[in-house]
Amino acid sequence: MKTLRETLQQAQSGGFAIGHFNVSDFTLLKAVFSAAHELRLPVVVGASEGERAFFGTQQLAVLVKSLREEFDHPLFLNADHTHSLASALEAARAGFDSVVFDRSALPFEDNIRVTKYAVQQLKSIYPSILMEGEIGDIGTGSEIHKDEPISARSLTSAAEAKEFVEQTGIDILAPAVGNAHGMVRSMVGGTTRKRLNIERIRDIKTSSGAFLTLHGGSGTKDADLRDAISAGINMIHINTELRVAWRRGLDNALAKDEDEVVPYRILPGAVEAAQRVVASRLSLFNQPRA
Ligand SMILES: [Zn+2]
Repeated sequence: MKTLRETLQQAQSGGFAIGHFNVSDFTLLKAVFSAAHELRLPVVVGASEGERAFFGTQQLAVLVKSLREEFDHPLFLNADHTHSLASALEAARAGFDSVVFDRSALPFEDNIRVTKYAVQQLKSIYPSILMEGEIGDIGTGSEIHKDEPISARSLTSAAEAKEFVEQTGIDILAPAVGNAHGMVRSMVGGTTRKRLNIERIRDIKTSSGAFLTLHGGSGTKDADLRDAISAGINMIHINTELRVAWRRGLDNALAKDEDEVVPYRILPGAVEAAQRVVASRLSLFNQPRA
């Protein structure tokens, strides 16, 4: 079985991106795995600190390992948005393939210092773990934002990206290139879309040489995602779109029969709705280069 690093390298040379989908529970894990397995595509399951607290860090790791082994499928596990060294170590110990060590709220120099320390600590114990760092403001909360988010967020510069990667020793960089966590209502309805700064992605790739992830991919124009991959994005995070589908699928399933109380007759509605989103995003990210 290929490692996540090898899969990222393969994506980079092949001109596609690995899909990263967050899960809070087993219905979402089923949805992500089933879509990827049907399409025969590698996939990363992500869980933030909040998602891990609900699912159980160990329990999620065991389930992912069991699916990976039973189906011999390249299914990877990422500790998304981890804010403390203790929780990064807990995920690494449980067997996660990668950790997003996110101290992007700190001033740049402090972010470098604490990220560098975390990379050293984690890699000294788990040498094969991939470490991702984040700079710039891409907002918080993969949910429906009722107010329009601030549109003029500052983008990561190519010089900052180079310095951050060199100083910290991270393997993967999450830059701010027009992306943002969450969606506003008009994006859920599909009348507006996020737009990315493709030139900035290309500059950051050239200057940093690191693998690049795009966080907050939900609600982004499809053509921008394809162009972002061509410009150097290797992994794309989708969370809010999945959560919206899960909720709608669950609502529909519940509305069908108010006397239905059997979970395994209700929950497939949520799995199938989320699975359709994963399949459609994976297909877009893995299109052969035009
Ligand atoms: Zn994120």
